[in-house]
Amino acid sequence: MTDLTPGLDVRWNHVVQELHEAEQKAGRSAGGVTLLAVGKTFSAEALFECAKLGARAFGENYAQEGCSKVDWFREHHPELALEWHFIGPLQANKTRGVAERFDWVQSIDRERIARRLSEQRPANLPPLNILIEVNIDGEESKSGVKPDALEALAAEIEKLPRVRLRGLMAIPAPADTHEARMKPLLAMRELFNEFKKSHPHADTLSMGMSADMDEAVEAGSTMVRIGRAIFGERNYAQKA
Ligand SMILES: *Cc1c(COP(=O)(O)O)cnc(C)c1O
Repeated sequence: MTDLTPGLDVRWNHVVQELHEAEQKAGRSAGGVTLLAVGKTFSAEALFECAKLGARAFGENYAQEGCSKVDWFREHHPELALEWHFIGPLQANKTRGVAERFDWVQSIDRERIARRLSEQRPANLPPLNILIEVNIDGEESKSGVKPDALEALAAEIEKLPRVRLRGLMAIPAPADTHEARMKPLLAMRELFNEFKKSHPHADTLSMGMSADMDEAVEAGSTMVRIGRAIFGERNYAQKA
């Protein structure tokens, strides 16, 4: 188990409360923003503690680690109807396990990966929900499509039979001031509003992490992805 101070229950309740207040402050409906608990590097047991507190949607970054956790829950807690989101970079040789286990993939920035996921999605499961990751602040090293390449990629993904394009995701660079944090988030809102004109079924704008959750909600996020504020600092040397 994780040895956290304050404990997981205190941290989880704090995040839930803060999200609720951010929704109110932004004039959003209560519960309108989905809370994704990001559990990378933490054990399935730690995620189970979080599920007992009420978490229902989990985000994972690494294919092997994420698939093991989905399998662990299937084996030990099939009664929990959890929703699994893959949010990390995904290589072509790792798509099958993800297509077979996850409900969402949020980190799509290439047609090839989306096509493999569509081909590998088992027939007995509903289509895999997809978000396109957008590189909103134009950092060269980062993943995500540039805004001007978004529409072309979206058009290709819409043709795939076993995935469903639900919207956009972004990971803005960390920033020190409120204003600097708001800038890419507001740019994403504008891009999403434009995107919805050509993709009216799109209903998800995934942005906001531990350091910018409030601002993301203010800017119109429909799904925040929270790791450290819930589980504590990550220790990559002890990756689960
Ligand atoms: C790790 C991660 C998060 C969570 O970040 P925290 O700062 O721990 O809240 C959210 N989204 C993505 C894509 C991540 O990789």
